[in-house]
Amino acid sequence: MTDEGYIALSKPTIGQEEIDEVVDTLRAGWVTEGPKVRRFEEAFRDYVGVAHAVAASSGTAALHVALAAAGIGPGDEVITTPFTFCATVNVILYIGATPVLADIRLDDYNIDPGEVEKMITPRTKATIPVHFAGQPCDMDRLLALAREHGFLIIEDAAHAAGAEYRGRRIGSIGDMTAFSFYASKNMTTGEGGMLVTDDEGLARRARLFAHQGLTRDSWARYSHNGFWQHDVAALGFKYNMSDVLASLGIHQLARLPHLTEARQRIARQYQQLFESVPEIVVPEALGEVSHVWHLFVIRLRTEMLSIDRGRFIELMRDRGIATSVHYIPIHYHSAYCQRFGDLRGQFPNTESAYEGIVSLPIYPSLTEAQVQRVGETATDIVRRHRR
Ligand SMILES: *Cc1c(COP(=O)(O)O)cnc(C)c1O
Repeated sequence: MTDEGYIALSKPTIGQEEIDEVVDTLRAGWVTEGPKVRRFEEAFRDYVGVAHAVAASSGTAALHVALAAAGIGPGDEVITTPFTFCATVNVILYIGATPVLADIRLDDYNIDPGEVEKMITPRTKATIPVHFAGQPCDMDRLLALAREHGFLIIEDAAHAAGAEYRGRRIGSIGDMTAFSFYASKNMTTGEGGMLVTDDEGLARRARLFAHQGLTRDSWARYSHNGFWQHDVAALGFKYNMSDVLASLGIHQLARLPHLTEARQRIARQYQQLFESVPEIVVPEALGEVSHVWHLFVIRLRTEMLSIDRGRFIELMRDRGIATSVHYIPIHYHSAYCQRFGDLRGQFPNTESAYEGIVSLPIYPSLTEAQVQRVGETATDIVRRHRR
């Protein structure tokens, strides 16, 4: 396969504005956190429509400081989905709390509020819903549960920058929301993340935890040595963002509406291409949402096929198309099995989704002809392997 013929799974869209901004930053000499991180935080905060934004070195870091800021720790339980990236569960373990998994719905692969409700105990301190693939979760039902039982909603919006739920931007709904700007995400700074919240106290504590627990505030106010004095007020982490990365973020954010439109166009094209292919279940935006299509995850009806998902992926790769699987369920990984025992069989929707899911290429620079080729190749493979 030639390089041109090969279709990657994801690619960032970096423009001249990003490049010029990075060069400007390097010339200015602010190679770590400085004025551009502030600019990026303010722009992101205003875009989401929320009072505070705290930039972080990754989406994982943003989630971790969110839990730390909320004062969650040993003895507390946090409910999340088994159909996610390991980071969502790892952060709960980092702070010494107990992750409690709740199964997903099969129509949108998001956490099922009915399953969340079953898992609530007096120790439940928060739930971390993941807006899978860029499709918002059923926030109204989750908010109602959180209010009734008095726990926090900390959203993992690693897939969902720019997504909307019933006219509200993701980030402006739950108590805190963490975004990721990792290379494969729908907007990127290479590595980076952002935590947003309307709560001033949570924002202040999150910022403290992301900066080694260092604070100058009280010294600046009360001491004539304010310019060098500081206090380590908590056991924090080295999780700040740099101006070099914020330079990318400022322009990625400005570009986000266009990036989203391009992804939505590709999703519509795939939906049309698979319209009359019964062996493939196609994802759809459900309800009153704006889906940002970080991922396009089809599900093979393997009972109709003579090949399994693994073979399908191999055949796609042989024909020059990269695909992947989002996600291998959390409880299938050995580290969690060692810790929690064998939970297989407890999350039937997650497990049955996992058997058939395949993520197809989706990114703004993917051409109409390439989408067509992916769709036709996938269709051809399933037609040749009908049971
Ligand atoms: C990417 C991702 C994260 C972690 O983001 P990083 O920026 O890579 O730390 C967390 N949760 C989900 C669902 C993700 O996809």
